[in-house]
Amino acid sequence: MDVLRTVAEARAWRAKAGTVGLVPTMGALHTGHLSLVKRALRENEAVAASIFVNPLQFAPREDFARYPRREADDLAALQGAGAAAAFVPSVEEMYPAGEDTRVTPGAIAGPLEGKARPGHFTGVATVVAKLFAIIRPDRAYFGQKDFQQLRVIQRIVRDLRLGVRVVPCETVRTRDGLALSSRNDYLSAADRTRATALSAGLFAARLRFSAGERHADALLSAARAPLERAGIVPEYLALSDPLTLAELEGEVTRAVISVAARVGTARLIDNVLLGMKLGELEELG
Ligand code: AMP
Repeated sequence: MDVLRTVAEARAWRAKAGTVGLVPTMGALHTGHLSLVKRALRENEAVAASIFVNPLQFAPREDFARYPRREADDLAALQGAGAAAAFVPSVEEMYPAGEDTRVTPGAIAGPLEGKARPGHFTGVATVVAKLFAIIRPDRAYFGQKDFQQLRVIQRIVRDLRLGVRVVPCETVRTRDGLALSSRNDYLSAADRTRATALSAGLFAARLRFSAGERHADALLSAARAPLERAGIVPEYLALSDPLTLAELEGEVTRAVISVAARVGTARLIDNVLLGMKLGELEELG
């Protein structure tokens, strides 16, 4: 596997690579990330993963400094999974002095994470646009775990005509339902158990939906109950239109139900889709 640290190295690699699938990550890789790599391997001649903890998407009081960094383990995991290249730039390489252009997504970045983390999606959109410009992948792979991020990227690719195929990939979970996340590293053993209340709530809402319940309040109550039992007060728990992320009330036919909550010192997010499959996103726009 080639380890590329500069834009020039990445461009030289890309020029020789055939069709390329890109898996952007912030490292501290787990099975969820590797599932994206495996999907990309099936659909492209070569797979590149990027590892870059992007300072631009963290607010000043967030966890940028303590975000887990374990490059040697990550490179071994990527090589084991079959990636052809890892792009591991420094902050200076991605944001040289004077490069201050930012990509600001539209209304889709307003609610949920956009509201809770002002500026976050400008940081995400800017780094992803740069990664796409550097690697020029044919396809790029993003997890449903960060559903709004996936939608923001689908929109910037469409609106800026970036010509990259965005491939959504399902959330990988532990047996007890917890969505895999690098931030699960922050959880104590007791909080790790409490954290399963997030997915338990989402699954309870999905079960009610499958049983015919369509009222937003009833679906949200089903999702809230396990959180209350675990003593978790969510930052938000919302039903939203899966295309626009606008909040839904009343009767819902198609929705994403998403939750963000602090558990101990970790801020966790999760979501499930109601009334549609992840694969339908692309055709719906
Ligand atoms: P991150 O390193 O957290 O920025 O994540 C990099 C990519 O992996 C993003 O597209 C995430 O949505 C995706 N990802 C993170 N956790 C999971 C998971 N549990 N299952 C599937 N994809 C994931």
